[in-house]
Amino acid sequence: MAQATRWIVLKFGGTSVSRRNRWDTIGRLAAKRMAAGDDGGTRVLVVVSALSGVTNALQAIASAPVGEDIAAPFAELVERHRAFCADLDLDADAVVGQRLAALQALAVDPRATPRALDWQAEVMAQGELLSSTIGVAYLAGQGLDVGWCDARQWLDAVSLPNQSAWAQRLSVNCRHEHDAALVERFSAQPTRALITQGFIARHADGGTAVLGRGGSDTSAAYFGALLKAERVEIWTDVPGMFSANPREVPDARLLARLDYAEAQEIATTGAKVLHPRSIAPCRDARVPISILDTERPELPGTRIDASAVTVPGVKAISRRNGVVLVAMESIGMWQQVGFLADIFERFKRHGLSVDLIGSSETNVTISLDPSENLVTGNVLEALAADLAEVCRVKVIAPCAAITLVGRGMRSLLHRLSDIWATFGRERVHLISQSSNDLNLTFVIDEADADGLLPQLHAELIRGGAMPVRDESVFGPSWREIAHGRPQRAAPWWAAARERLLQQAQAGTPRYAYDLATVRARAAELVATTAVDHCYFAIKANPHADILRTVVEQGFGLECVSQGELDHVFATVPELSPRRVLFTPSFAPRREYEAAFARGVTVTIDNLEALQNWPELFRGREIWLRLDLGHGEGHHEKVRTGGIAAKFGLPTARLDAFVAAARALGVRITGLHAHLGSGIDDPRHWREVYAQLAGLADAVDTVETIDIGGGLPVAYMPDSPVFDLAAWRAGIEEIKQAYPRYRLAVEPGRYLVAEAGVLLLAVTQVVEKDGVRRIGADAGMNALMRPAMYEAWHGIHNLSRVDGATVSFDIVGPICETGDVLGRDRLLPSATAEGDVLLIADAGAYGMSMANTYNLRAMPAEDVLND
Ligand SMILES: *Cc1c(COP(=O)(O)O)cnc(C)c1O
Repeated sequence: MAQATRWIVLKFGGTSVSRRNRWDTIGRLAAKRMAAGDDGGTRVLVVVSALSGVTNALQAIASAPVGEDIAAPFAELVERHRAFCADLDLDADAVVGQRLAALQALAVDPRATPRALDWQAEVMAQGELLSSTIGVAYLAGQGLDVGWCDARQWLDAVSLPNQSAWAQRLSVNCRHEHDAALVERFSAQPTRALITQGFIARHADGGTAVLGRGGSDTSAAYFGALLKAERVEIWTDVPGMFSANPREVPDARLLARLDYAEAQEIATTGAKVLHPRSIAPCRDARVPISILDTERPELPGTRIDASAVTVPGVKAISRRNGVVLVAMESIGMWQQVGFLADIFERFKRHGLSVDLIGSSETNVTISLDPSENLVTGNVLEALAADLAEVCRVKVIAPCAAITLVGRGMRSLLHRLSDIWATFGRERVHLISQSSNDLNLTFVIDEADADGLLPQLHAELIRGGAMPVRDESVFGPSWREIAHGRPQRAAPWWAAARERLLQQAQAGTPRYAYDLATVRARAAELVATTAVDHCYFAIKANPHADILRTVVEQGFGLECVSQGELDHVFATVPELSPRRVLFTPSFAPRREYEAAFARGVTVTIDNLEALQNWPELFRGREIWLRLDLGHGEGHHEKVRTGGIAAKFGLPTARLDAFVAAARALGVRITGLHAHLGSGIDDPRHWREVYAQLAGLADAVDTVETIDIGGGLPVAYMPDSPVFDLAAWRAGIEEIKQAYPRYRLAVEPGRYLVAEAGVLLLAVTQVVEKDGVRRIGADAGMNALMRPAMYEAWHGIHNLSRVDGATVSFDIVGPICETGDVLGRDRLLPSATAEGDVLLIADAGAYGMSMANTYNLRAMPAEDVLND
């Protein structure tokens, strides 16, 4: 038998054992694993839950008030299992006749009336006993060498100090030290595969005990540890653990590999895939755990083991709702020594376990996690009354705890600036950082947490705190698993390689713009029926050919300075001033005068301008830019709304502005809001229109509502492509609700970003302290976005398309540490001096922000027009 003691433990939950085809899957998976070892020495232990819904029904019976009829629900369960046997073409009497009789006997057991704890455990154990028995009969019938085994012979409940009698029977822990003699006895069972029950164990008195919540996962882990199994496979109906709950964050990434501590933390702080209790036994025994999807067995799932590469970084973000905060203010006279002991004693008295703690000299705030505690109104009231003897108490609920999990959290703080900024806009009650450096938790009001996770998740990726490029840890996104990889057309420059290489010969750095791409983007927007006016924000790229191209497509132009106005009319002299907007910020008075003289539409965004320059505005038509109280966008520095931003009149001052305008005979004919750049949520613009339309009704003279620009482009290969159809549908719908206004948009980036590339030449390739760097002949001087916004641009070696790749940082020649165009990029290992690098999606805010810092020359520009 010695060579036959390598075990793999497979666990299947309720939904995986409730249908015939699922049992076929179980049989197939078990057979495959037994066939895998070349010596045929691998054996399989299958741990199963009860059929779905059965444990809940049994629990209801076990805890039914005394006197309530329990015979009927027992009879229903008998029927359910008989029907399932019929589905499997099994003779129910032969297979489970005795078990069903035993089940019904429990209804008339003398222990039933007092609802004795040992009787309750026995009742609850019936579901697994039945499902495992049925499964063995079915798979044996299919020819699998499989036998039944009673988990209670192998799993011994241990009682812990401080445990209540209830917990010692209905929420037990089990002994799980590896024991060679036990493995030998276990392996002496005759069949190669065995099926046993999750959730149940033997009580010290020889009777039945149950493991409580998450019991089946934990049983599998105990068996894995006892047998020192090759691995434990938890088969579920999701592909594994994710970097966030995929239902809330479709871009959440599958976590391919985790170490035990990280997995424990993720399971504890939110992910429901694996019960947190089930990790410790495997960790202690160093048995790897795999989480796999019964519906998609070909996916690799999540593997948890000791040798997981532990790259520092945020691996997951989770949210727990229903968290209760208890803030306790010490009362002046109360002794300082022993204050904490006094309050915690009271939590213990009420059976409450404390999760997070924040403390100051006079205040201690703790959180209660509803999944660990029975926090009812009654319990809280009693606790508060009790605590009131030693402190002033305030209960804050319901709260949400949002937790970032990952190794080395403290070394990541510099990458979390956007996260802090986002929380800075909410009311944060408590911040807690775990002493094991694995988590950082923010507690906010539950209502404020809605919609926050997708944003935080995107910020973690953007800021580099969540290292999703590391494929050993991060698998595909949920969206990709569910819908396939987003189909992206190849970029225009892929077909223009030879030409671009040739152009680079004329000198680098140089930008190249593809007018066909500009035209295509412009046409998409003009074709939106709900949009009455499109303006191109020329600051994104004022190249003359681009301006002429978008004007030909039907766009007007939006300028933010007198220089831009002069440039526009010099470039497109025939353009009617009616099609030009002037939307400056803190511009000098003379620029407004010049704009009025040109006859363009002037937008102002503060009351002081009207008050200080009444003669400038008297009798004019203007548009008014509003701050709707919040900013949006891909980086703190591009959010142009909210208290921190200098733009826009706060809505609270609208009435005062309207009154001042009336007094001067100024007609407000447009309302405008542009709240940021690179906004991913396509619903943003319809909300802006709705808000502005609501305000416009009160202003009375408004004809046009301008909902700004800010449409994003997908810079990263796995960022979702902007859902323009959803954007359109949203504004079309809202336009129908408020049809009397003309609707204007003013995108910049969307039209030109993908149309432009920056060509650079490699200057030097250097390795320093293990970091390989490719130097280019321009950096932040030619393209400021990475240094300024931590923006990500694709970087390609145009001279070498094939060959092995290694990871490089790509840096420029500017004397600034921040002069980095990209970090950790896979580029040909043969990259050498003179190679041409292409920086993708550089058409927006590239050349227009370039400068001559360090007295380096400005980039050249070429236009491709075919
Ligand atoms: C910059 C700017 C835009 C364009 O923003 P994008 O994110 O490039 O679309 C639109 N309106 C105003 C007022 C701007 O300043």
